[in-house]
Amino acid sequence: MQTRVYNFSPGPAVLPLEVLQEAQRDLLALPGLGISALEISHRSKWFDGVLAETEANLRRLLGAGENFRILFLQGGSRLQFSMIPMNLLRDRRADYIITGSWGQMACEEAARLGAVRAAYSSKAYNFDRLPRADELELDPQAAYVHFTSNETIQGVQFAAEPDTGSVPLVCDASSDFLSRPINLERYGIVYACAQKNAGPAGVTVVLIRDDVLDLCRDDLPSMLSFKQHAREGSRLNTPPVFAVYLVMLVTRWLLNSVGGLERMHAQNQAKARLLYEAIDASGGFYRGHALPEARSVMNVTFRLPDAETEARFLQQAATRRLCELKGHRSVGGIRASIYNAMPVEGVQALAEFMREFAS
Ligand SMILES: *Cc1c(COP(=O)(O)O)cnc(C)c1O
Repeated sequence: MQTRVYNFSPGPAVLPLEVLQEAQRDLLALPGLGISALEISHRSKWFDGVLAETEANLRRLLGAGENFRILFLQGGSRLQFSMIPMNLLRDRRADYIITGSWGQMACEEAARLGAVRAAYSSKAYNFDRLPRADELELDPQAAYVHFTSNETIQGVQFAAEPDTGSVPLVCDASSDFLSRPINLERYGIVYACAQKNAGPAGVTVVLIRDDVLDLCRDDLPSMLSFKQHAREGSRLNTPPVFAVYLVMLVTRWLLNSVGGLERMHAQNQAKARLLYEAIDASGGFYRGHALPEARSVMNVTFRLPDAETEARFLQQAATRRLCELKGHRSVGGIRASIYNAMPVEGVQALAEFMREFAS
């Protein structure tokens, strides 16, 4: 086998080795069926089972009650930026809590469709922080409040969800989905494209609470309607069969090999600590982008003294099989994405390299 590197890509991102190995075995012929997982019908008994197990696994991992519907959609998280206002805005206004580039974009997309308001934005601080409770002025009449639990580009993560009272809370959880337990009952909608933490590109998981689904419009084109997708059990058209199957394998891995989201969270925190310690112990050589209280456990963002040194850092890291560490083009610097499937050995190797490079 070709040697695998430590892939710190922000997405599509590293997947658990055992998931890839199982998918590899099923790529030519599924046991007992003789058909590839890439060739099989979305109306087959096999795929009935895949959808049912993926949903059941997600329910177990997230503690989702029967009052939540779980949808498998296409169009990425970017389509949710439009679908959510299309379905829920009507003639009301929505509040957006903006702590990074993705939240900003979600707000701009929604503004094409109706009235939105930035209830908070840290843009003036280059998105390095979270709102304090007294900085959030939420409209109790809003159609919904949208926030991004983890801003993938800036590396800023909420430790807990904002309190929105009876206004439905909508969360773009694309880059920290399944990385830690959440109190799902506090959310109206949670959505996440799979390619950061839950599987490959091509499928987006949407959890929607029944009372919020009831509020959705009935008169939308069917592919843009949450109600239609829910009615058809995510098979309004041909779903991305292979991508959903991979999400099933990832959720199985989380349940059986990791042992649930509490354990996953503890591992993720331990990994992040290794890198933030290396940053903080470098005497200012490495400078974290996010303020310490807003630091992400998933995407660790930092700068070196200048762009030339950053280029040298990336080049030398690659010779140690530490790859895809370049920061997003809009902020520069270094970004280490250390999602669920990044093994602790990869993070240890990076922390070790950071110490050596600094000295
Ligand atoms: C990656 C990402 C997106 C965009 O996802 P696509 O599937 O490419 O549309 C949106 N929000 C966040 C937080 C992300 O990390």
